[in-house]
Amino acid sequence: MGREPQKCKQCGRTIYFDGICVNCRTENERNRILALSGAEIEAAIGQICNEIEETGALKEERALFTELLNYRDIDTSKIARAAFQKGIFHPCEIYKDAPDDVIRAMMEMLKQDDTASMLANSLLRCLAVYGGEEVFQLFLELERHPRKWGGKLYVGSAYYAAAGGWTFDREGRFTKTNFDKCYPMVRGTQEGKAKSPVKIGARTKEKCPKCGCGIVDLMEIDGRDPRLDFLGIAGVIKAKCCPNCIVFSEGDFCRYTVDGESEIIIDEDRPKMEDYLREEGIEELASNTYVLGEHPVTPRYAADWEGGSSVGGFAFWIQDCEIRFCPDCGKPMKYLAQIQWDTVLDGMEGNAYIEICKDCHVMVVLHQQT
Ligand SMILES: [Zn+2]
Ligand SMILES: [Zn+2]
Ligand SMILES: [Zn+2]
Repeated sequence: MGREPQKCKQCGRTIYFDGICVNCRTENERNRILALSGAEIEAAIGQICNEIEETGALKEERALFTELLNYRDIDTSKIARAAFQKGIFHPCEIYKDAPDDVIRAMMEMLKQDDTASMLANSLLRCLAVYGGEEVFQLFLELERHPRKWGGKLYVGSAYYAAAGGWTFDREGRFTKTNFDKCYPMVRGTQEGKAKSPVKIGARTKEKCPKCGCGIVDLMEIDGRDPRLDFLGIAGVIKAKCCPNCIVFSEGDFCRYTVDGESEIIIDEDRPKMEDYLREEGIEELASNTYVLGEHPVTPRYAADWEGGSSVGGFAFWIQDCEIRFCPDCGKPMKYLAQIQWDTVLDGMEGNAYIEICKDCHVMVVLHQQT
């Protein structure tokens, strides 16, 4: 039936079909986009605009758009103008560099009571990606004086803002929910990993009180490495969690010190759980050889399926963007890192996300999958 295990012809991992694995295919496509010249990028943008203008939709070229955005951080102004004329608001990242007049028109639409709530939902996302002071002031105003369309939405405008990497609290204080810089985690060696300032999945001696699974430092980050200056962390921090329980729960919060100490804040209400990972899973997780990439990449580099693991930048939220509130100060936390599970644990679906409140020295590890 063609289900015999075989080796990926590029990286050697076990797959159940002919050819190369999904990770390698993504990597090859990424390398193709990274090699495009300026003129080729312009031509590709033209191709995307053509589809929008001729068909009133972005379907055929949607994947190309996402690749150009994620890997090259293209200027989206031309695409935004074309999309707005045709009433296309997905994906919202189209509006990252939208022209002023387009943004103003969208803001006007949101101020109206009779805007359809579905449309308002899309406009909020698009404007969140564009960001800036005026959008922030409008979101604040909408949160304080909701329009009629707001009644049909489940969440307020502050929630939508996080899709663009920012939000604000009840007092109207602006905070960023993302770091601007992004570094990828790349395949390395055991020796390389020993020296890497970021490590994934280190064992600890602790066992989870709810399931008995080995507790891990899902990510260890040494902020003293010059590459990680943008994090503003003057030491070693460890995001500790039970990798078994976080899949079935709201995630694990932990308190950390910058000396590498970390303690899970136990959720007493969490039910006992079976340990599906077991010792084999922990062993596999701990033996990965991912290391921090040498150079920074574009902020959305890892923000798609098979995007891999990364530190900083934007996450690929499989469900909706999920910025948690710090259990100590109540303020929105900041997205710190993403781990694509199947790159470190064969057959495990989804991503883990790490968020941080540096004021309170608290991190959370949460999980999403389809
Ligand atoms: Zn492969
Ligand atoms: Zn557990
Ligand atoms: Zn806090």
